[in-house]
Parts: sequence; C-alpha cells; structure tokens
Amino acid sequence: MDFDKYVSNLNSDLCVLKGVGEKKSALFSKIGINTIADLIYYFPRTYEDRTIFHTIYSAPEGMCCCIKAKPVRKVLEKKIKKNISLYVLKIEDETGSMTVKWFSSPYNKTNVYVGKEYIFYGKISDEKSKEMEMRVIEPVSDQKHTGCIVPVYSTTNGLTQNDIRKAVSNAFLLVGNIYDTMPKSVLQLNKLVDKNTAVKNMHNPENFVTYEIARKRLAYEEVFVLVLSLMRIRKSTKAKISVMPKNIKCASEFAKGLPFELTKGQKNAINDICADFLTGYPMSRLLQGDVGSGKTVVAATAAYVMAKNKYQTAIMAPTEILANQHYETFKTFFKNHNIKIELLTSSVKKKKEIAEHLKNGETDIVIGTHALLEEYIEFSSLGLCITDEQHRFGVKQRSKLTHNEKYPHVLVMSATPIPRTLSLILYGDLDVSVILSLPKGRIPVDTFCVNSRLRDRIYNFMRKHITQGHQCFVVCPLVEESDKINANSSVTMYETLSRIFGEKRVLLIHGKMTPLEKDCVMNSFRNGDADVLVATTVIEVGIDIPNANIIVIENAERFGLSQLHQLRGRVGRGNEKSYCILITDNKSEETAERMKIMCLEKDGFELAKKDLELRGCGEFFGTRQHGLPELKIANLFTDLEVINKVKNDCDLIMKNDPEL
Ligand code: ADP
Ligand code: MG
Repeated sequence: MDFDKYVSNLNSDLCVLKGVGEKKSALFSKIGINTIADLIYYFPRTYEDRTIFHTIYSAPEGMCCCIKAKPVRKVLEKKIKKNISLYVLKIEDETGSMTVKWFSSPYNKTNVYVGKEYIFYGKISDEKSKEMEMRVIEPVSDQKHTGCIVPVYSTTNGLTQNDIRKAVSNAFLLVGNIYDTMPKSVLQLNKLVDKNTAVKNMHNPENFVTYEIARKRLAYEEVFVLVLSLMRIRKSTKAKISVMPKNIKCASEFAKGLPFELTKGQKNAINDICADFLTGYPMSRLLQGDVGSGKTVVAATAAYVMAKNKYQTAIMAPTEILANQHYETFKTFFKNHNIKIELLTSSVKKKKEIAEHLKNGETDIVIGTHALLEEYIEFSSLGLCITDEQHRFGVKQRSKLTHNEKYPHVLVMSATPIPRTLSLILYGDLDVSVILSLPKGRIPVDTFCVNSRLRDRIYNFMRKHITQGHQCFVVCPLVEESDKINANSSVTMYETLSRIFGEKRVLLIHGKMTPLEKDCVMNSFRNGDADVLVATTVIEVGIDIPNANIIVIENAERFGLSQLHQLRGRVGRGNEKSYCILITDNKSEETAERMKIMCLEKDGFELAKKDLELRGCGEFFGTRQHGLPELKIANLFTDLEVINKVKNDCDLIMKNDPEL
C-alpha cells in the first residue's frame, strides 16, 4: 500500500470528488467537513431501516416500511402552491389497496406505469383510510434504494442526504482500504473487526448486527486512544515529584483544637492523605463520604499540614455560595492559628491584591471557584489542590497548576460515588478514601411524601419548630413563574410564605441574584435573622446550617434521587431531629416509586445506585458540569463494559510495551 498517497488522499479537499464543486464543498464545510478524512469519519446521525417489507394489509400505522405493489391508476397531480404539487397514486397488492402521496419530487410521474410492480417506501398513516407518505419508489426489477439500511446524516440547507451519501461512497473509492492503527493483538483479544470494515459498516451497515459490531470497534478505539494517553500522563505524573511536607504530626495537633472529635473515617482519611504527602510523589485521592459525613474538616486538616510546612493550598468549590461558606468555616477552624486564608471568586473585588499575596507566598490557603484557574493566578509554593463536589478538575488543570516542576497533590471530595471507570477518564485514576459513618449524635432525617393539599399542616409543623428556635428551607424547582413549566417558583413561594410567616422572617435565594446578594442572604440566614429560606437548587451542594432542621421540597417529582438526597443533606447536620418533606401532586407510578425509595433509603451510596438504575448514568451526572471528554462514538455511560476492557488492555500495554 502506498502510504504517502493514502495520507495525501485523506487530506485532500472535497473538490477532488466527482459531483462536488466549490458550492457543495462550501456547504460541506458548513457542517465541519473540509477534507476526505472528515467525510469518512462523518458518521450517520441515524439510519433508515428499509429492510422491512409489509403487505398493504399488514403495514402498521405510524411505521416506515416497504411495500411491493402495483399502481392502479395514473399519478394524480394537485397543485398546492406555485412550485409545490401533491402527487397521489392508488396502489394495490393481493391484500388490498391504498393511497400513496408525495410532494413535488424528483420522481417523474410519467414514468410510473399502471400494472408494473414497484417497491414503495414510506411512513404509513391510517386516518380515513390507509395511506403512505412515500419517500422512495423504484421498480422491483431495478431495486437499489430499498431492502437495505440507509444512512441519515446531519446536514444543512442545500445539502441533501443523497449528496452526502454519494460523496461518502466516492471518498471510499478514492481512498481504498482504511489503514488500521490499533495493535493486532488487541483486536484479536477483543474480537474486534478491522478498521476498514468498521468504518464502512458505520456508513452502510448490512443490518443492525454489523452496525453494532462496527460501532463497538470504533468506540473501543476511541476510548483506547483516550485512556492510553491519560495513562501516559498519569505515569509521567507519578514519576513527577511533588512537595513533601515532612512535618505531618501537626495534623493531630490541629485535630485537638477542633470543637468535636473526628470520626474514625475522618481520621483514616487524614492518615491516607498524610501518607501520600510523605511519598514525595503527587497524590491523586478521592475522598468519598455521604452528605454530612464531614469532608470539609478533612480538607482543612490537609491544608493545615501544608501551611505548617510552608506550602499553599487551593480549594475549589462549584458555586460561589459554597466557596463563601467554606471560607467562613475555615476561618473558624483556623481562628487560633496564624494562617492566612483568602477568598477568590469572580465577584471578589481585590482580585489583584489576592493574586499578589498568592504569588509572594503571604497567603497560605485560598478558597474559590473556577476563578482560581484563571491565567493570571500564580502561586509561590502550591502544594495541594482540593476540589469539592467539582467533577471538572482533570488532568489538564493539574498540569496547569504545576509549579517549579513540582506537581501539586490533588484531593477530590465528593458525596457522589464516582464509578471507577469514570474516575479513570476524569482524573486519570484515583486512590480512594471512604468515610463510612456519620459523626456521633446524628439522628437520621425523617422523610415524608405528601400532596399539596396538606400544605397548611406542613406550615403548622414548620411554625412549631420555628417557635423552638429552628430554621427551615423551602426548595422550589423554578426561579420565577413560567408559562411552559407547571411548577412552583421561588419568587411566588417567597411571597406566599412572607404572608404566612411574616415578611421579615422569610428570605429568598436563587441563581438569578448577584453573588453579592446571595452572599448577603446566606449570611443573614446563617446568623438567624430569618426562619425560612426559600431557595432554588442553588443550595443543593454543601450548604451547612446545622440549626436548620426542616427542608420542604416542592415539586419533588422534578428532582433525581441523588439530587433529592443532596438537598435532604442540608438538614440533619446538628443534633436535633430533622425532617425532609417532599411535596408532589404527580401521580405517575415512577414518581411514586422514587418517593417511596426516598422515604425508606437514608444511605447516599444506595440511593446513587438506585438512581443509576432508574435514570442511567448520563442523567445522574447530568445536573452538574461533569467535565467528561466528548466522544463521538463511545458513550461513557452505556459503554462501561468497553471502558473496562480498554482499561485492562491499556494496563497490560503500559506494563509490557509503554512506548507502543
Ligand atoms: P460534608 O461531608 O457533607 O461536606 P461537612 O464537612 O459540611 O459535611 O460537615 C457537616 C457538619 O458536620 C458540619 O457542621 C461540621 O462542622 C460537622 N462535623 C464534621 N465532622 C464532625 C465530627 N467528627 N463530629 C461532629 N460534627 C462534625
Ligand atoms: Mg461538603
């Protein structure tokens, strides 16, 4: 095979193809196809299955199928507009007769002969009588476009499906066989087809089995390339050095000064982290613990160890509200220590000054949002990066924060159990510490599900607890009323509850407020200036107000199990009995099932598992920005098995032939 010729063909302009001129080539360019290679890897959006044949009698309504039949009369043309005609043709087979319709089409009506047998393909409808919206007609004697699976591509105005199909098949003629880059041994081991077959079958599969075989092969390759490169980075990261804080005894000093005793899980996690520090190689650790298990104090301890050893820590939270809260929490944890903590979010004013402090080493701990990854931020001695409920901090960000050839240690905190295969792709693999038990004295949150007719009783219940000095959250799915979505809005709820509980005792927080406004509201609620906080899901992750003991969730059917669990986790953080009240008027079976699970199951990991079963992994991670790489063919959620296999293969390769 002439490899140079092959490569130059792949890189050539579409104009080399028959039937593609400047105009068409510009249209192809519009959908991102500039070279022959682009075209070959431009896979169909979906397929039309034209392999299914029916008789007129058996053709099912609403389905697309082929029918072999003969015209009974000549085609009738009805002018609808100037350039549009509707063509109507009556056809019959041994089982009956029906009407076939199509709009102005390339099929010449004079070419349809009464009594000759044709294949008609189209969608069957059955209103007054059986009809077909015809898409293809061809003589039985010259069957080309039926009896097969036909690719359907995403396209743009002016570029027809046929343009793309023709271009693709001409491109294959030009290029010949597609060269395979996957190692033969891996293909054999996994019984994968060769690339040439796979690529061609993606465009024109004979049936859906060959399609799936082709897709699996290309998905495998896609994940393989990704995982292998991640493993290489990971290997080079592991080989990199990191800062080595030698004094780790200070961790227990810090723990002694805390207002509570650490749980066993917390202590173990801290030990794991300190042991990682001492290796001198960069840590990649996931700290997994259910909501309320006390991950923040573990982070604080790790940051303390760093600070005592003269290294800086950066802590990244997904929202400004959470960053603010962590900042406040850290200030109380560190109030008796001489450690400088600063907050850096996009709405913080003196950004320049804070950046200066980070650069000259004055600041020990910086807490913030994504603003921390901005170009202008530099550290004098960054030793540790911590991310909280923030699944976007991947390999790339890490190398960005590398300092003087020394990689920072990385600690990822999450209440969501991240499947190992996904952690591999998100972070290039992680070690895991799990906090299994909740702090002592916690009483499980009681969960009830009610319909909105019980609202008055709920408000009485809230009032009773407010009189005892407690606070309540009321969560609504929407910020403002919407014409499109029938659900409660925080603004309206705020107005209603202000009337019921007194204007001064109710606060409102939602995502459309400015960060400063949100900050103000959270602070006054934390200080006890109000009894009720009406909120959207902006309070979903991390918010810690131990005095709040009731959370009411409106339109609970609109939230996933994991999300409900996160919301429920906003209460039950003190030593008081707490309640989660789910309100829904939705009568579907699915809702009933999910509400039942919520009422019975207290364990976040179990709920996450059920959530995965009920909704699939995509939805499960969907509500948050997950930072997973976008793949064209493989689906990180449904192709878990492929990912697992790839991981094993890549492990072997890294061991035996890392230069492959
Ligand atoms: P999460 O794991 O959900 O991030 P937090 O770190 O916010 O949980 O902790 C929840 C609450 O529990 C906080 O108010 C925190 O001060 C408290 N807490 C953490 N650890 C302990 C402990 N060992 N004993 C008692 N309370 C604790
Ligand atoms: Mg937290």
